[in-house]
Amino acid sequence: MNSKLQIKNVTLADKDMKSGLFQYIMTLGDGSRARLFYSSTPEWKLTGVTRMLNVPCPLCRKDYYCGCFEKNADLFDRQINDQDLIPASMRS
Ligand SMILES: [Zn+2]
Repeated sequence: MNSKLQIKNVTLADKDMKSGLFQYIMTLGDGSRARLFYSSTPEWKLTGVTRMLNVPCPLCRKDYYCGCFEKNADLFDRQINDQDLIPASMRS
């Protein structure tokens, strides 16, 4: 795994039970932050990743929008599942 994309923690930012949409803030080891969008229906699924521009991108070093996090969405999703970073208590 690309160690630059190691997730440090994930916090719940917003949820809409009616539509089943959840928004989280993910912080990486280097301090990068991103918004994660999950949909809970019909199945739990990551639908989007948007890097916040608090620090330059750890991959391409751009300090404005780039597509690196979107391209690595699967890697983030896998880490979250493997390490249970979004436990059931944060999905309801
Ligand atoms: Zn980038």
